[in-house]
Amino acid sequence: MTSVVPDGISPVAVDKAIEKLTAELGAESVVTAREDLLEFRDPYAYRESDEFDASAMVLPTTTEQVQAITRIAGEYGVPLWTFSQGRNNTYGGPAPRLRGSVLVNLRKMNRILEIDTDLAYAVVEPGVRWFDLHEALEREGGELWASIPDLGWGSVIGNSLEYGIGYTPYGDHARNICGLEVVLPDGSLLRTGMGAMDGNPARHTYPHSYGPSVAGLFQQSNLGIVTSTGWWLMRRPETYLAGWARFHGYEALGAVVDGLRGLLLDRTIENHPMFTRGYEVDENGVGHLNPDGDGWVVRFALYGRQPVVDAQYRTIEATLGRLPGVELAKRVFSGTDLTGPANHDERVQRGIPDMDLLDPQMLPYGADTGHLDFSPVGPATGDAVVRTEQLVRSIYARQGRAYVNGIFLTPRSALHISTTFFDPRDEQETEAVYANYSELVHELAKTGYAPYRTNLAHMDLVADQFGFGDHAQLRFAEKLKDALDPRGILAPGKSGIWPATLRPGRDRD
Ligand code: ADP
Repeated sequence: MTSVVPDGISPVAVDKAIEKLTAELGAESVVTAREDLLEFRDPYAYRESDEFDASAMVLPTTTEQVQAITRIAGEYGVPLWTFSQGRNNTYGGPAPRLRGSVLVNLRKMNRILEIDTDLAYAVVEPGVRWFDLHEALEREGGELWASIPDLGWGSVIGNSLEYGIGYTPYGDHARNICGLEVVLPDGSLLRTGMGAMDGNPARHTYPHSYGPSVAGLFQQSNLGIVTSTGWWLMRRPETYLAGWARFHGYEALGAVVDGLRGLLLDRTIENHPMFTRGYEVDENGVGHLNPDGDGWVVRFALYGRQPVVDAQYRTIEATLGRLPGVELAKRVFSGTDLTGPANHDERVQRGIPDMDLLDPQMLPYGADTGHLDFSPVGPATGDAVVRTEQLVRSIYARQGRAYVNGIFLTPRSALHISTTFFDPRDEQETEAVYANYSELVHELAKTGYAPYRTNLAHMDLVADQFGFGDHAQLRFAEKLKDALDPRGILAPGKSGIWPATLRPGRDRD
């Protein structure tokens, strides 16, 4: 008998559902032991908290099994929570928003179904990690590169569904999705875009649908379980240049953001530059992070044929390089040199995954370190970026909290991602960090900003910020939820979207 049961569901129903799931999948694919499930808690919630505990976990290996799982869950009204690798740490990891949900762990669905070198895409199942995709592309001759995020252990699908970003010109991962296969809450199967037609050869090459495009409905959503997708890749360039600009102070920050935006808009630079605060170079020329300092570094990259990259870099020298106090540096890789030794920045901008940023030696509590990321998004103007940076900094200062931050620039918007480290074994500290986060959400909302993604505990609060038209967008999502998932079995509460039976009273302002 399970001891962890979702609100409003009878323990008998949960047990019956687990029994049926076991008959369908086999006992080896169903986990119910409490001690085995502990590993699937949110790693950055208070360690002893059972607030987001699952009742069980299933590990399907095929789309048909995923369909069977949703049908059984529907029959007994038992909520499911899907993850692909569940490495979505700081945004909940593998843990469900609703306590007592059954985890659908897709790590075993980890096949790369296709790599098309001519058309530069791969077709992947949810369990495929950045490491796996990279390895497979190298095996195929290394002609294709995947854009990747900073840590290689997550999945292509999980990250892309959450609007994750990477650092090649294909860094907006949500846009690389082309041709989803999705299991709907009633267990039926949907293919998006051209894939809606049997045998359509443009399934993974043309992203739009005939009629409304529905692929976006499955991102940061609880309307389906994605079982595969086409995912676009870039061709290996003749030359790859990793570049840096260093400078001090807010005035230079504003000028560099404006300069870079121009270079992004005219496509001199096509990747996502990333700014880090607190970067200083000592007298021996070695770089260090000193978050209290006002030194900044921004990294960017160029890709293409040698003469084009040379010309692009000269343009950057003529624009950014002319700004007072801005120092440029670069490293150029070409031919076989592209596989030579490189540091994390150089690797990640050319799609070679690693785990460097989670190196326990670099973290204040070693392997036990938790971090809570706050990621509001705003426009990519120097003024707006500096104002937001100053505001976030002043709130952390008032809270007495140390943090590190990065600003990720696209041609039109800036993602401000600040991270505060803490010890999740310490209940009081963890609670304080989560309360501080709520304050950040409220304070930034006063300037019209909201996070683009958040952790389990703050999903409702962030949803509350999008109040236009009496929360018209959220109510639209709820209508879809009610129509497609009347029993509310898929990821209740994800992104603040609850099924009717669990919906909080709408007094949101
Ligand atoms: P990562 O790839 O970083 O390990 P996760 O697997 O934790 O990411 O996925 C992040 C979030 O995306 C999950 O919490 C879930 O809400 C959603 N998600 C992940 N995989 C799927 C999927 N196959 N279908 C639907 N939603 C998914």
